[in-house]
Amino acid sequence: MTRSVWDEMIRHCQEEKPYEACGLLSGRNGSAQTIWRMENILKRPDAFAMNTRQIQKVLQKIAFRGEKLVGIYHSHPTAPPVPSIEDIAYANYPEAAYLIVSLASPKPALGCYRIWGATAFSCPLQLE
Ligand SMILES: [Zn+2]
Repeated sequence: MTRSVWDEMIRHCQEEKPYEACGLLSGRNGSAQTIWRMENILKRPDAFAMNTRQIQKVLQKIAFRGEKLVGIYHSHPTAPPVPSIEDIAYANYPEAAYLIVSLASPKPALGCYRIWGATAFSCPLQLE
């Protein structure tokens, strides 16, 4: 992921506090180059959900740019960067990396996972 995507993702997560923030990342060759802020329609500090129509719209814009969905991020305002049972249950995009930004300590911490079925595998993340 690029440094500017990282910065913008952290900024978004901090702005949405105390609620969870969520968004999509797109790019080429598996690298996140574009960030799409999404609305957390639940407006909760411990869960998030995206509006299906907003997802469809953004996926169209991503395709129009010749990019692919590479990541889905959300924040944990007070919890560690580990997927919750709900995060795993509602993960519908096996091709995307699931990024969790934890704001539980002063320095944001990031978890990166691939979620297949009921299992979350930790995945490496590179800043470019
Ligand atoms: Zn979560």
